[in-house]
Amino acid sequence: MEGYIITMTRFEEIELGEIAYNEYCDYVGWVSINGDELPKFHNQKENIKNGWVKAALGVMYEIERKRKIEENKWSVDLTQKTPDNFKSTKIIKNIIKCNFCNDVIESKHRHDFVSCKCGRVSVDGGKDYFKRSFKEPTDYEEMSISEDI
Ligand SMILES: [Zn+2]
Repeated sequence: MEGYIITMTRFEEIELGEIAYNEYCDYVGWVSINGDELPKFHNQKENIKNGWVKAALGVMYEIERKRKIEENKWSVDLTQKTPDNFKSTKIIKNIIKCNFCNDVIESKHRHDFVSCKCGRVSVDGGKDYFKRSFKEPTDYEEMSISEDI
């Protein structure tokens, strides 16, 4: 999960795990698969508590990633090198690398909107134009290949 910008204390992480655990236990009536009563979160085994923390964080990061993609989606539209404006440029590869999660992402066709795994940056435009979404221009490294024609 490196590359995510959210910072939480361990206490806050455990709290999320407990919320998820309590929801699950409420749903199944505090009974485990072998019929035993499920213990309160603080009495649960360490590895099971950590598992619930992991599950809660996994969901939270995915929500945060989607939110970031939405937020950045329309915020910036850089380097609009449409074939009409730049007839002399032929796009071979439309690729950037995210400087937060190091994900390398490629837009392969005109409406192929691709986001990195942390959601900070996106590419679009395929071989027709270079479109980037980001928060800061330094968020990504340009890796595209184009040639003059
Ligand atoms: Zn990223």
